[in-house]
Amino acid sequence: MRIAALIVAAGRGTRAGGGLPKQWRDLAGQTLAARSIAAFAHHPDIARILLVIHPDDHARAATPGVELVHGGAERADSVRAGLEALPADITHVLIHDVARPLVSRTTIDTVIAALRTGAKGAAPGIALSDALWRGEGGQVRATLPRAGLYRAQTPQGFDLAAIRAAHHAHAGPTAADDVEIALAAGLDVVIVPGDERNLKLTVAEDFSRAATYLMGQDMDVRLGNGYDVHRFGPGDHVVLCGVHIAHDRALMGHSDADVGMHALTDALYGALAEGDIGRHFPPSDPQWKGAASEIFLAHAIELARSRGYALGNADVTLICEEPKIGPHALAMAVELGRIMGVEAGRISVKATTSEQLGFTGRKEGIAAIATATLLRSQGRP
Ligand code: MG
Repeated sequence: MRIAALIVAAGRGTRAGGGLPKQWRDLAGQTLAARSIAAFAHHPDIARILLVIHPDDHARAATPGVELVHGGAERADSVRAGLEALPADITHVLIHDVARPLVSRTTIDTVIAALRTGAKGAAPGIALSDALWRGEGGQVRATLPRAGLYRAQTPQGFDLAAIRAAHHAHAGPTAADDVEIALAAGLDVVIVPGDERNLKLTVAEDFSRAATYLMGQDMDVRLGNGYDVHRFGPGDHVVLCGVHIAHDRALMGHSDADVGMHALTDALYGALAEGDIGRHFPPSDPQWKGAASEIFLAHAIELARSRGYALGNADVTLICEEPKIGPHALAMAVELGRIMGVEAGRISVKATTSEQLGFTGRKEGIAAIATATLLRSQGRP
């Protein structure tokens, strides 16, 4: 499969305001056209990007790596011009409406995956959940069944030869989209899951809604805390936040007793609502005896990544009279960063004594508390 993205941007629609066709309007610092192009330019499966424009827009449309084609009077004319311009080595095309600049990687992946199974056509749709009315003169005249109804989105993906033939054969009135033209030619089109954020920007309020998504106001922020204690016993060193420190006693525990790393690991599990280390690495299981705590921390951050979260920051406080932590704190942050694959600047390790009060003050053991934030954008990945 060799896939091209054909972005239809020849419209003259100025309903969204700003006095410009909407594809050239700014949305949080970039035009809709630039955002739609970027969505496909960053996708590894897209071999070519073709932008169908109005001839008047030629100068402002020039973009490195993007071929420009002049469109026609109707949307279907523009798509046809784009399809004709695609080179012979292209086997499939994703036809995308420039007014959907928030199209996600997932949506593009899903359409491509359906084409890979051999489908001649595949397009994202969202099943209707609102009741449907037919209205007239401000009054409801009838209610309509919504079962089996979908809202259509783009990109709509097709076998290139099949959709070219369908466009050539299409003689009917103006089609709403390319699926309509495909169906008229007898092509089967698979419905794949659409995305509520893949908005079609038409009126001014659509722009503010889209900007809200992009400004990170819908960021999913998770905060977790962790607390751990290990007692001192005989030995000649301790391991704290992955750093080996010579000491006249050691910390006792089932694993390497790295109290700081355990607290941080529990903070990550806590942020994910995934319990604690004991749930994932049961102390009853002999394979974790003496284990390097790095295994636990790496597991927790990997679990977070697998759900789309990145570490915002982590803060670990060790509570002990000795050993002295200060000289090792930076090395600890660097080591925790290495294990989690994040820069050390996002990680803080600090220490406090407890003024010789309590078990830490009596040097019976070390306690640690940790806080971590995980971030995931709900918008475009
Ligand atoms: Mg522990």
